Amino acid sequence: MPLFNKKKVEPETVSVQGYKLLCPLCTNDSFYKKKVQMNTSTLTALNLDFLNKSATCFVCSNCSRIEWFDA
Ligand SMILES: [Zn+2]
Repeated sequence: MPLFNKKKVEPETVSVQGYKLLCPLCTNDSFYKKKVQMNTSTLTALNLDFLNKSATCFVCSNCSRIEWFDA
């Protein structure tokens, strides 16, 4: 079973709380959205329980930098 869904998706522009998301590295404005389920005892051990439910991450379509959001 593949770890990631290889389905072809187009990158999209993202706004968070009215702010347009720009890659802090390359200033690109299009991202691939991924919803990530997290449920590992490692996160609890590291006191990162806030990540234990799910998180949204946006992967820069240019340089692949990942921006994480707790939502
Ligand atoms: Zn970038």
